[in-house]
Amino acid sequence: MTLLITNARIASENSPALVAADVLISDGKVRQIGQGLVAPDGARTIDARQRIAMPGMFDAHVHFREPGFESKETIASGSEAAINGGITGVVMMPNTSPAIDSATVVANVLEIAKRTARIPVYTSGCVTKDRHGKEMAGIDGMRALGVKMLTDDGDTTGDPAVLLRAMQYATEFGMFFASHCEVPELAGPRALNEGVVSYRLGIKGSPACAEEIIIDRDIRLAHAAGAHIHIQHVSSKLGMETIRWWKSRGDVRVTAEVSPHHLLFCDEDIGDFDTNYKMNPPLRTKADNEGLLEGLIGGVFDLIATDHAPHTPFEKSQDFVAAPNGITGMDTALVSLYHYFVATGKFGWDLVVKRYSAEPRRLMGLPVPSIAVDQAVDLILFDPEGQTTFSKEFMKSKSQNTPLIDQTLKGSVDLVVLGDEILLER
Ligand SMILES: [Zn+2]
Repeated sequence: MTLLITNARIASENSPALVAADVLISDGKVRQIGQGLVAPDGARTIDARQRIAMPGMFDAHVHFREPGFESKETIASGSEAAINGGITGVVMMPNTSPAIDSATVVANVLEIAKRTARIPVYTSGCVTKDRHGKEMAGIDGMRALGVKMLTDDGDTTGDPAVLLRAMQYATEFGMFFASHCEVPELAGPRALNEGVVSYRLGIKGSPACAEEIIIDRDIRLAHAAGAHIHIQHVSSKLGMETIRWWKSRGDVRVTAEVSPHHLLFCDEDIGDFDTNYKMNPPLRTKADNEGLLEGLIGGVFDLIATDHAPHTPFEKSQDFVAAPNGITGMDTALVSLYHYFVATGKFGWDLVVKRYSAEPRRLMGLPVPSIAVDQAVDLILFDPEGQTTFSKEFMKSKSQNTPLIDQTLKGSVDLVVLGDEILLER
């Protein structure tokens, strides 16, 4: 396939300025970038009409629910939701059934991904057997199949001695640890943030300290073991500050992620017990939203990740305390980041490309795509003048548990090209 994209504006992680240019791609590689390029014989031309060209996003925290919970999502439907949102690579979390805690399950998941997904799907592996927090998982076997990230996501690794031992063991193999931070005894039923809103609704809340204590514990363990620790879905300002303090010391390798929903929404948005606002860690306060944005702009957060967590309408229709935690994110992430932050001048496309495309791939030790001559094609076109309505028909995820359902936001993902294939065109 030979494709000439004319009148694009190219975004990169290195500069806030967009570069106007035509881009010629053929046989999966970027061949030429410049002004007034002429389409070779047989080439197709797409007029980008000032749309923004950038590399595809990479989501390092998604729940694809296969094996075990295929009514919520499958690897096939999840990866289509990713493409729908301009995401061209993902890392699955291991809280499936069975949990991804051995070479056998990893091999099974990677085989399904190879057969059914149109983008690269990587998987993390559990730190402990069945995520029970007691006994080390089959780490060496998973490593042999390419697993890099170890996490008991969904829960904190219960026994710190087991986590420390796993860190000492797996760090030698170049693996790293990703922590879901939560003291279960403090978090209680995990319904929502403890504060004014939880008191008003009369529901036992989960205090931010339940998360902040484990952020500190797990970085301390990594410090002791010489391990690389990645802190997942940080939801509180003090959590962000804890990570900033550890990073400023410079003697432990710590990275961290923030999710669009923790930047966008707070506990007051729950309103009349809307379970689409229920996730773990919970939405905290407006001051936390502001603290997290400060952390993203200031580089405390290395990456943006959605924690895409699909659940069926039936499950989410239960009462607020009984309904499962999680919201979907991949269909909506890029458009919502544009609508709420880029279009409002809070940050530029360079931050989006750096934090949602480049850094997550660096975390995983993968090549980082860019729109440059001789690079493999991994390209999306984003229309800042367009708009997207997140209707049920638009969503490619099997589940639609997001507060953005049926909302219309500015911006749209119009084209996704990976290698020699157009994965999406609108
Ligand atoms: Zn989690």
